[in-house]
Amino acid sequence: MASPDPQRLSLNTATVRKQWNLAQAIEGCARHGIRGISPWRDQVKELGLNQAKKMIQNQGLAVTGLCRGGFFTAQHWLDDNRRAIEEAHELQAQCLVLVVGGLSEGSKDLPAARERVTDSISRLLPEARKARVPLAIEPLHPMQAADRACVNTLEQALDICESLGDGIGVAVDVYHVWWDPKLEAQIRRAGAGRILAYHISDWRVPTRDTLNDRAMMGDGVIDLRLIRSWVEAAGYAGFHEVEIFSELDWWKRDPDEVLRTCKERHLRSS
Ligand code: ZN
Repeated sequence: MASPDPQRLSLNTATVRKQWNLAQAIEGCARHGIRGISPWRDQVKELGLNQAKKMIQNQGLAVTGLCRGGFFTAQHWLDDNRRAIEEAHELQAQCLVLVVGGLSEGSKDLPAARERVTDSISRLLPEARKARVPLAIEPLHPMQAADRACVNTLEQALDICESLGDGIGVAVDVYHVWWDPKLEAQIRRAGAGRILAYHISDWRVPTRDTLNDRAMMGDGVIDLRLIRSWVEAAGYAGFHEVEIFSELDWWKRDPDEVLRTCKERHLRSS
């Protein structure tokens, strides 16, 4: 299979968040010829929405997503998600990524949590459509079902999408879904219309931390070429967003080295 187009590489700023603020990440992308960026809202807030928008536009970067909305168990979820939609609109983000939240405090009722997610998104969706901000449900690995996201497979996410109609799709993050025996079929089911973002990293063996121990592409066990072939066969022609949370390794390195490695591994190993 051919190497991916280097122009399709995007940087999720979490990858260098311990080393760089958003302004530095934007400049870093420009310096390294990376054409897409996916910022986190706390970083946007720190830099200022207008300044973030201006800097991103000046460098001509595509905003491949805004991270993130969701957490529908949180107390002020509606106001917070409304703000997230406004910010995504201002930044012309290709989608607002939703990490949907887990169980309510003290609850063991997973089906109820999942129902609440669908209800919450159905309340939010009309506003997102009006702002022309597609919502991207990101299914997370089941080890995070309790505390971060009770939507854990692409199949679950697509069921929600289909029950709600237009303006909603999925973020396919290989780290969360690589193990799923239904992955190929569900990517095909999603098609280009529902795949709003494609996130890449790798699965380290052993995994030392359930949140912050992702590997660089090529350093783990995920067949990234195979999954990309499925995503492309489904018609997805968007960016490949590198998203690596790595307390013990990549967050400790020189961020320019991290970006150089992302570019090289994107070509060679994804
Ligand atoms: Zn992701």
